[in-house]
Amino acid sequence: MAATGSDASGADCRPQTPISFELFPPRTDAAALALGRTIDRLAEVRPAFISVTFGAGGTSRDRSLTVLRYMLEHTDVEPMAHLTCVGSSHAEANRLVREFLDAGITSFLALRGDPPAAGEDDAGIGDLGSAAELVQLIHRVQEEREPFAQFGVPGVPGASEIGERPRPERVAVATFPTGHPRSRGVAQDVDTLLAKEIAGANLAITQLFWRSDDYLGFVERARAGGVTIPILPGIMPVTTPARLARLTELTGVEPPAELSIDLEIEPDAAGQAELGIAYATRLAAEVLAGGAPGLHLYTFNRHEAVLDVVGRLGLRPADQLVNERNTTER
Ligand code: FAD
Repeated sequence: MAATGSDASGADCRPQTPISFELFPPRTDAAALALGRTIDRLAEVRPAFISVTFGAGGTSRDRSLTVLRYMLEHTDVEPMAHLTCVGSSHAEANRLVREFLDAGITSFLALRGDPPAAGEDDAGIGDLGSAAELVQLIHRVQEEREPFAQFGVPGVPGASEIGERPRPERVAVATFPTGHPRSRGVAQDVDTLLAKEIAGANLAITQLFWRSDDYLGFVERARAGGVTIPILPGIMPVTTPARLARLTELTGVEPPAELSIDLEIEPDAAGQAELGIAYATRLAAEVLAGGAPGLHLYTFNRHEAVLDVVGRLGLRPADQLVNERNTTER
């Protein structure tokens, strides 16, 4: 990694690297309170955005919106809403997108989501068969909306004015460096990503991966296959063996044996956390050195481990997601 610190003039010369975080909506009032504090701490490092997951089938719609609204009202952070389309009719998906746009959300992570019975042929798949169709729908809904709307005047109770509606800034999509569990091979994963870019996505965020070569090799294949949008590496510091086992079950991405064994044999919770944070820091440093355009950190709704990774990397947050650095030249 690049050196950190200040130059002779005392100016901060650490590299600017866009950082983003992912949260999931809390299930209890106590968890919601704790999440507010977590968001406030994450906001201090000025992330490019914080994304909030969405239960496939809309199970978390209200809770996701509450977290996104908290960010809009209490922080300067750009909230990104994950949306899934599996199981939805065209009309339902249309209503959902409109509702989030009306709430002031302008960044989305468009996902298909998993069908309830994990079967691609299920009748429950809905009208939109892929994330690419949801990307198109987000753009279409935005275009069909009235360009102007009535807004309250900040600080003037009861007053309103006509203003331009905010437009979607980021329409991100998911991508899978070690292959989607149902993909026939890496060519299909690249083709799927290209289809999402052609549909209008302007950012990709990866599934977890454990080796930098998985990410860097995938980016290289994606570039060769015509994908040009930035591909943000998704990294998670895993601080307990139980969490690692759960993640493996959820994602199907096998962790390296050395990490699983080290976490299992380490008796002390602080020692386990150190192992996970050190592994994630190393992985993040390697992908950044290989040209990654930023870091997307999975938080598991805790700020400590991810902020530790950011601190150890000596990163200075960037306000904007810059274009991918030198990945295309690799
Ligand atoms: P798609 O891109 O539509 O792909 C689904 C499958 O269809 C793949 O096998 C793909 O290869 C195939 N496919 C689609 N289009 C084509 C095509 N044109 N040509 C060939 N094959 C095609 N799930 C949630 O429920 N809620 C969340 O909040 C959530 N957040 C996530 C965040 C990230 C960063 C990631 C990586 C995943 C997330 N998921 C979430 C999981 C995701 O919904 C599942 O992995 C789902 O199975 C695939 O969604 P997708 O958007 O990648 O689907």
